[in-house]
Amino acid sequence: MLARIVIGLAVSLICFAIAGRRFFWLSKLIRTGQNANRPWSGIRRAKEAVTAEVIEVAGQKKLLKWTVPGLAHFFTMWGFTVLLTTILEVYGALYNRDFAIPFIGRANWLAAVEDFFAVMVLVSLVVFSVIRIKNAPSRKDRASRFYGSHLGAAWAVLGMISLVIITLLVYRGAQINTGHFPFITDGVMQSETSVAANQAMTSPWAFASQIVADWLAPLGVHTNAILEAVFILLNIGVITGFLVFVSYSKHLHIFLAPLNVAFSRRPRALGGLDKTPDMDMENVTEDTVFGVGKIEDFTWKQLLDFSTCTECGRCQSVCPAWNTGKPLSPKLLIMGLRDNMFASADRLLSGSTEGAVESLVPSIIDPDVLWSCTSCGACTEECPVDIEHVDAIIDMRRYEVMMESRFPSEAGLLLRNIENQGDPWGLGNSKRTEWLSALDFEVPIIEDTIPEDIEYLYWVGCAGSLDERGRKQVESTARMLHRAGVTFGILGPREACTGDPARRMGNEYLFQEMAKANIETLN
Ligand code: SF4
Ligand code: SF4
Repeated sequence: MLARIVIGLAVSLICFAIAGRRFFWLSKLIRTGQNANRPWSGIRRAKEAVTAEVIEVAGQKKLLKWTVPGLAHFFTMWGFTVLLTTILEVYGALYNRDFAIPFIGRANWLAAVEDFFAVMVLVSLVVFSVIRIKNAPSRKDRASRFYGSHLGAAWAVLGMISLVIITLLVYRGAQINTGHFPFITDGVMQSETSVAANQAMTSPWAFASQIVADWLAPLGVHTNAILEAVFILLNIGVITGFLVFVSYSKHLHIFLAPLNVAFSRRPRALGGLDKTPDMDMENVTEDTVFGVGKIEDFTWKQLLDFSTCTECGRCQSVCPAWNTGKPLSPKLLIMGLRDNMFASADRLLSGSTEGAVESLVPSIIDPDVLWSCTSCGACTEECPVDIEHVDAIIDMRRYEVMMESRFPSEAGLLLRNIENQGDPWGLGNSKRTEWLSALDFEVPIIEDTIPEDIEYLYWVGCAGSLDERGRKQVESTARMLHRAGVTFGILGPREACTGDPARRMGNEYLFQEMAKANIETLN
């Protein structure tokens, strides 16, 4: 008895110390990031965070969009949560073979729930394995969502979770056969010398443990007693070893995902970009940095994003750039930034500014990768742990455009056209009313203030005014409004580009200039 207490505690203490040190180090590393615009106070913010935890973490809403892997993850996640009770049981059994406290080790329904989730986790692991084999990058190459993920580590995790459940069921089966399983039919468990007598006293609710007990029954009470002690120690060893493995692997998401979801932008991390730099030139100094050029320019929330990635590849599978053969994978981009964060850890933690610092583009992120993004946001929408890819991409583009003046020649042309002609194609304001000639009714062009008899101002936009296909849509909309009796007018040549393409390209300065000009017109 003393030996198993000493071994069990020694293994636990060593593993807790290693994992604890790693988590402390990680929290320090993440906190080296810049300030993030994440107010954490106020009832509204707290309500949003709690709602997100209930829907996305507890309810697994995003994961369940993909039914089969979603259900497998649902049962694994809830299995881990429910089976925390067995951790109390196993540590109790280390000291006292008949350990039980109210509910834990006594409530028969809990024995059934524990066994149900143990079985469901094993079934889920089989499902995960089949999915991984069917979608292996060696079979599907780029079409596999696991392309570029750490495959060995993923298999190691599946193996370790299996071992947690297998060691649990074996020591419970052995406990049943030795008369030391705390869940009993009624009264107080008396340890008998026969396996059959011990099994007769045990609660049948622990159905999976009973099956394992039947398999082990021919070994007799003595051998089962040895198995009980060995598998209790193995279960503790695997659980604490798994904790250490998790703290060093992509499975950090087990602990970081609830945090990342709590701090994510609400209602969704799409729409306006997160950080809006102050483009007032009066406030600019020599040290001002627009965007992100080095890993230390990211906020702590972005560093938390990189650490939380599970490498599931859901973002990659919905990315239009990746699916049309471009080099950009949002998953590989996040993994690249995470690797750079860990590689730069010493510098980040020491706050050193000496020596050459690797710039993210092109050293870590290839320019072709950065400029392949359409900023559609599908990756952010799909990510089950609420990583905000678009903000990171636009931040790096801002640095490239505004600090380095580096961008593809096509982007340069577009930005010049917006700046000089007020539209991305450089066609000029005079052409903004040409589409009106296709209509058989008059549309007023508003010169000054909107007259009383006009209900709405129709903002046509550059594509609607100047692009052939866009014009057809605008013409149809105008005809519908006219037929419905809605009175409306347009700004015509006074309308200018909203600056949205410039903003997506990272030219925040041009965007803000265009926005200011349009606001002035509208005022
Ligand atoms: S926002 Fe960019 S990276 Fe994300 S899915 Fe769209 S194209 Fe891909
Ligand atoms: S960024 Fe999100 S969706 Fe993409 S691989 Fe990582 S966890 Fe999965």
